[in-house]
Amino acid sequence: MQEINFEGHFKDLFDNTSDLIHFLDIDAKIELVNSAWLSTLGYELHEIVGKSIFNFIHPDYTQDYKTRRERIISMGNADVFSTAFITNKKETIYAEGQISVNRSPHKSLYTRGVFKNVSGSIIYETKLFESESRLKALFTSAPDGVIIINEDQVILDWNTKAEKIFGYKAEEVVGNLMSETIIPHKYREAHKRGMQHFLETGVGPVLNKTIEITALHKAGHEFFINLSISNVLLKGKWIFIGFLSDITERKRTEEQLIRKEAELLQSKVLEERKDEFISIASHELKTPLSTIKAFTQIAIASCDNNPDKVKPYLEKINHYTDKLSELVNELLDVSKIEAGKLKIDTLPVELSSFLKDSIQAVQHIIPDHKILVREIKEAIVAIDAGRLEQVITNLLGNAAKYSPGKNEIYVNTELNNGSVIVSVTDLGIGIPQKKLDKVFTRFYRVNEHDNQFSGLGIGLYISAEIIKQHGGKIWAESTEGSGSTFYFSLPLQN
Ligand code: ADP
Repeated sequence: MQEINFEGHFKDLFDNTSDLIHFLDIDAKIELVNSAWLSTLGYELHEIVGKSIFNFIHPDYTQDYKTRRERIISMGNADVFSTAFITNKKETIYAEGQISVNRSPHKSLYTRGVFKNVSGSIIYETKLFESESRLKALFTSAPDGVIIINEDQVILDWNTKAEKIFGYKAEEVVGNLMSETIIPHKYREAHKRGMQHFLETGVGPVLNKTIEITALHKAGHEFFINLSISNVLLKGKWIFIGFLSDITERKRTEEQLIRKEAELLQSKVLEERKDEFISIASHELKTPLSTIKAFTQIAIASCDNNPDKVKPYLEKINHYTDKLSELVNELLDVSKIEAGKLKIDTLPVELSSFLKDSIQAVQHIIPDHKILVREIKEAIVAIDAGRLEQVITNLLGNAAKYSPGKNEIYVNTELNNGSVIVSVTDLGIGIPQKKLDKVFTRFYRVNEHDNQFSGLGIGLYISAEIIKQHGGKIWAESTEGSGSTFYFSLPLQN
């Protein structure tokens, strides 16, 4: 009988088996691997000895490998499990195998891993589909893209339509992880969790229904697909079949429709607003006109008998004519803003004296309210005096108009970061928080159907444009029922 050379025999087996074998020291550093390991992963022995095995295991599988190895070291029993290696060309090799623990004669501990490369045998998982010719025909000629993956998310098959949809040929993607191929980066984590959850609990909320999501094309762009996923159990393992179609065109049409509808709605709202505006404007213009007419008639009647009595009526006529021309000027300002023709002409001015003069002028128009100045800082600002006076008149006029029964209005200034901030505070009706920003838009009135307060809803719109043209900002703070503060800032001149 021929004597068996055990060492030679096992060395032969070690080197000639197609299994990937590695020996690791206690710290998981590679001590030795066999030829199949080196040729499959594309390394030379000297490049890997002493390196951690985790340099060669796919990041998605590292933790699993670690945990299993630790369990085997402490408990000794080994199960077959799946893992994945990374080759020197960064390709993924799926493998199935076992780890076992050994003690060397010097009692030092090492682990041995023996793995079968199953990347090729993915075909094995799909052979059922392959052999079922009707299914295969359906798969190939389906009008939808069809993608088949296993529970490790490895793409097992990919039909011609899927090639068209994603730009990848089947041979480019079969064997790769689906999540790394067509799932946009932002959804990958959620997808992984969803899959894990399904494998643990059997609950998959996206299974067997149609969903709309975005996918990643080979060229790098995201696009919308319709996706429905079915799952089948094959030899104790789940296989997922995704039916999908590119709905970019449909989405585009939908978006166009939504945009059109929004435009229509907007023009309808504008049309309604215009009608409303015309009715308010006519009312606003008619009131002073009727008053002018009435006083003119009284003045005419008084002329012959009592010429001295005419003067107060003429003064009234004068006052209402001013009011009327103010309204017409405001309307003209709106058209100038719309046409981009509201221009300002600035000159450096000392703000405190300018403010004091403007306040004094407005105080005459609102005799029932008292404008109290808190602090007026001295500051040089470049302003169009006429236009800025218009802003101050508007803010103080509103403060008085919208605070019936409360007669104090406060003006304050503050210096802040190269700007001066002017504020006007009243203790009036206030503005609801969610309407606060809108008050600066054209024709907007908080209580548009309330006849208590007259107005066209354009004063703040014009003020905002004037302040913007001065390089400043305008804003408001308010508490409904207790009052409002309107602020504007102007950049300081050096
Ligand atoms: P209006 O001529 O209607 O007063 P504005 O453009 O000056 O137009 O103001 C727009 C709207 O903002 C007003 O209709 C009013 O509802 C609200 N508003 C403005 N100032 C105040 C304020 N001080 N207190 C309460 N509401 C205000």
